[in-house]
Amino acid sequence: MTTVAERHHVVIIGSGFGGLKAARSLKHADVDVTLISRTTTHLFQPLLYQVATGILSEGEIAPTTRLVLRDQKNVRVRLGEVEGIDLQAKTVTSKLMSQETVTPYDSLIVAAGAQQSYFGNDHFATFAPGMKTIDDALELRGRILGAFEAAEVVTDHAERERRLTFVVVGAGPTGVELAGQIAELAERTLAGAFRTIRPEDCRVILLDAAPAVLPPMGRKLGLKAQKRLERLGVEIQLNAMVTNVDYMGITVKDKDGSERRIDCACKVWSAGVQASPLGKLIAEQSDGSQIDRAGRVVVEPDLTVKGHPYVFVVGDLMAVPDVPGMAQGAIQGATYATDIIKRSLAGQDDPANREPFTYWDKGSMATVSRFDAVAQVPIPKSSKKLEFGGPLAWLAWLVLHLVYLVGYKNRFTTLVTWFITFLGRGRGQMAITSQMIYARTAMQALQSRQGPLAAVEAADKIEKDESA
Ligand SMILES: Cc1cc2nc3c(=O)[nH]c(=O)nc-3n(C[C@H](O)[C@H](O)[C@H](O)COP(=O)(O)OP(=O)(O)OC[C@H]3O[C@@H](n4cnc5c(N)ncnc54)[C@H](O)[C@@H]3O)c2cc1C
Repeated sequence: MTTVAERHHVVIIGSGFGGLKAARSLKHADVDVTLISRTTTHLFQPLLYQVATGILSEGEIAPTTRLVLRDQKNVRVRLGEVEGIDLQAKTVTSKLMSQETVTPYDSLIVAAGAQQSYFGNDHFATFAPGMKTIDDALELRGRILGAFEAAEVVTDHAERERRLTFVVVGAGPTGVELAGQIAELAERTLAGAFRTIRPEDCRVILLDAAPAVLPPMGRKLGLKAQKRLERLGVEIQLNAMVTNVDYMGITVKDKDGSERRIDCACKVWSAGVQASPLGKLIAEQSDGSQIDRAGRVVVEPDLTVKGHPYVFVVGDLMAVPDVPGMAQGAIQGATYATDIIKRSLAGQDDPANREPFTYWDKGSMATVSRFDAVAQVPIPKSSKKLEFGGPLAWLAWLVLHLVYLVGYKNRFTTLVTWFITFLGRGRGQMAITSQMIYARTAMQALQSRQGPLAAVEAADKIEKDESA
């Protein structure tokens, strides 16, 4: 099927921070917008760890994109895996089940983000899921809570210890937040609920090949976060490089070159990112744009690719010096790209003389536990940054996340949930199912090629064949 647009047609790939912001910014523009994404939702990734540890439901952090955009009549939302982009023909090819759709565009905004990187060791993923999608977070919840359940019934002491050892690989913000929350879950929510084990005796290990916790936030804040985590009982292991991951545990190489094993059932990978393969696809067709080592497109100063002034790459997929892979980078990139499109419609855009994209660093923060976070905020008109930690930083974190969550209802329910969780011991999202834990491996077995929708296609075929 080919969609023919009468007005200027903007195609947006991705419904994350970049994609949704781009669509919303074009609300009053005289354009037709098609937003294509392989997920039906707009995912607020910064709170995935709370889904994984039973605080929030997936719905609260991932509203349905077409419902969010229901009242914006110039937008069409299309579910599909983008498999092809033709910069010469100006088309995007997406696929859902066996249905292929070719969508022509006048302007293209690619905000396809990044995936987990295992640094060439993709087989680690079988045993150590990442933290990028709702599926990841639900699987982790199943694995974390399932480990306590298994520890309660096993009789072998060493196996019980293994089940009660949790390893988080990667001491960036996600790793710090997850390790802190697993410790709090055991200490506050699960304590007293088992008869054979004491959940609070579990080992939570946060390890990283780097010599510091939260390296992008600097030494002082990193040490602060480290001390606070240690107070919670989290073991921090730095200069520790993971060399293997298997069912029984992980192998770690220390700075002195010696190798050791950590027997553990539950491992989480939050160590690296790899940009969407769409970046390479675009760069290869451009007039010489390159990708960097993480697969991000080295864009021009106006976020376009060489030779295509209306093909923008934004968010985690773009490589721009001093712009971190954070929500603000994606939001600001999308605003910049749509401003250019709006100017071009008014005949006010000269691609050769565009103001370059500039990034406004609004700071960064990471929570360590309830009432405790670290934050870094740039001081206006100064190269210095204000660094602080504790309840004030946590309050700032709470307010900011509420502001950026999409939907009034989600903000309200999240606030109520946080109130209950942080003041009391309870967590409202502790249900786990076998599908959460085992579906990924089952789906991988079904998958004949990459992409979650390919597995759906295979499952659909099995269902069809059954009824034949
Ligand atoms: C666990 C975690 C915690 C984080 N915490 C923070 C934080 O505290 N603060 C912060 O600022 N940032 C944080 N980030 C980073 C932030 O979430 C990203 O920088 C941001 O999401 C990037 O936005 P994006 O639009 O580029 O990509 P994404 O938000 O990742 O969106 C990509 C979109 O593209 C779609 N897509 C991808 N490939 C295809 C395809 N082939 N076909 C169709 N659709 C496709 C996806 O379905 C998705 O909708 C965190 C990230 C993670 C994973």
